[in-house]
Amino acid sequence: MQRTLEEPPQPPKLFQHHFDLFADLIETSQDAIIALSPEFKILTFNHAAELMFDYSRDEIIGQSAFNLVPLGRGGELQEKLKRVHAGEAIAHYETLRMKKDGTRFNVSIRISAIRNNHDELTGFSWILRDVTDKKAAESLIQKLSSVVEQTADMVMITDKQGIVEYINPAFSTITGYKKEEVIGFTSKILKSGKHSSSFYKQMWETLLAGQPFQATMANKKKDGTLFFCEKTITPLFREDKTISHFVSTDKDITDKKLAEEQAQAELRRSNTQLEEFASIASHDLQEPLRTITCYLQLFASKNKLLLDSDSKDYLRFALTSSQRLQKLIQDLLIYSKVGMGKISSSEFKSLDAVNEALDLLRESISRNKVRVKIGPLPVIKADKNRMVQVFQNLISNAIKYKSAKPPTIQITAHSDKKEWTFKISDNGIGIPRESNSKIFKLFQRLHRKTEIEGTGIGLAICQKIVEQAGGKIWVESKPDKGSEFYFTVPKTP
Ligand code: ADP
Repeated sequence: MQRTLEEPPQPPKLFQHHFDLFADLIETSQDAIIALSPEFKILTFNHAAELMFDYSRDEIIGQSAFNLVPLGRGGELQEKLKRVHAGEAIAHYETLRMKKDGTRFNVSIRISAIRNNHDELTGFSWILRDVTDKKAAESLIQKLSSVVEQTADMVMITDKQGIVEYINPAFSTITGYKKEEVIGFTSKILKSGKHSSSFYKQMWETLLAGQPFQATMANKKKDGTLFFCEKTITPLFREDKTISHFVSTDKDITDKKLAEEQAQAELRRSNTQLEEFASIASHDLQEPLRTITCYLQLFASKNKLLLDSDSKDYLRFALTSSQRLQKLIQDLLIYSKVGMGKISSSEFKSLDAVNEALDLLRESISRNKVRVKIGPLPVIKADKNRMVQVFQNLISNAIKYKSAKPPTIQITAHSDKKEWTFKISDNGIGIPRESNSKIFKLFQRLHRKTEIEGTGIGLAICQKIVEQAGGKIWVESKPDKGSEFYFTVPKTP
């Protein structure tokens, strides 16, 4: 039904009702609805238009529609109105409009002609929708998609079943697969066979629980060559929080991985050479050193009465130094043997290993009046002699670094699914937090040898033994309160 704006008909009652409904509809519309005269004067201005342009109806009605158009866009409007006048319908075009304070915003506009019963133009209707947010979102999407398209990392989007919906150009560059060879197929084409089924099981469990999954993975290119990636897979969610897609990004780390492997092989080689040298050198040094110590002792006892006090001091210094050197060489020999010797693994009660270590330290334990408390200890599978060595080093340190309090040492163990964790705690002088990892390095000591005797090799030996057996070692300590040394032994070595 066409109506003229100048001469609204006097409707009968039912029509009046429909007319009111129609007016309400316009007034409550989310879109701005504006009627213009053929001369582009504003005739009606609904509530949404007031909110959109910040003009009140009273201010704007009767004004030119060009008040709502920013400078430079007037020509465009005139041209559109001309086309509508000529009978064309403009269903949707995007442009800029201007609020009362001059702020510009993006709108989508529909323009229609209003004609009377004689098909004469009586005005125009404008329906406007603010699309500023939509525009901003579109521009963001455009930026994000060019990032994804241009990044050097592989990006792949799959549906929940793992069927590929999108790959970026880097994916093709790295794998050699073209889009059409991948899209619509499962992502399994990259499977290298280098990961166990439990790896994939854990991956799917993590993803289907809605968590991101990260791992270093070996993948296979189209030509069959392997490449290594740092992979992150992130689930995408629908509004109802169910998973719709997965986004997988892979950073190619093949070069880094190869360089690391080379460096590690190099390190292993030089360590072995160093260990061989240390072993031979300490072996060969032991004999002449023993002779020197022995003759110094003989010389001292034979000339006890002839030597003046200075000469006695010199002799004492020489003897102490040669004894310290002997201890250093012995420790170095142990350290190098750990690297070179074969690991024998058998089941034994760890309590037996602790008791052997305590036997070896019996003299020092009774001299220092040490209380040793031992909790229930498990049967473990490891190299027993090496475990004795670890307990011996840790217990002897707990005694050596005692405080003024009577020394107490506790040895306990607890377990989880994969490993046993042993704890050797003392009430000694403790270790400052910043030195916690330093003390496991070779020759690292926190005390000068004049304060407490030592070589700085004991904990390095412990670390080497524990790590070779697949465990780890660490310390938690508070200065003046005591230290807790922990080490783990895997249940399936
Ligand atoms: P060494 O005892 O021969 O110096 P270690 O490698 O056994 O060498 O220990 C390295 C350093 O760690 C020690 O010099 C000492 O400073 C510190 N340390 C080790 N065990 C303890 C402990 N139980 N309490 C306090 N400090 C310790």
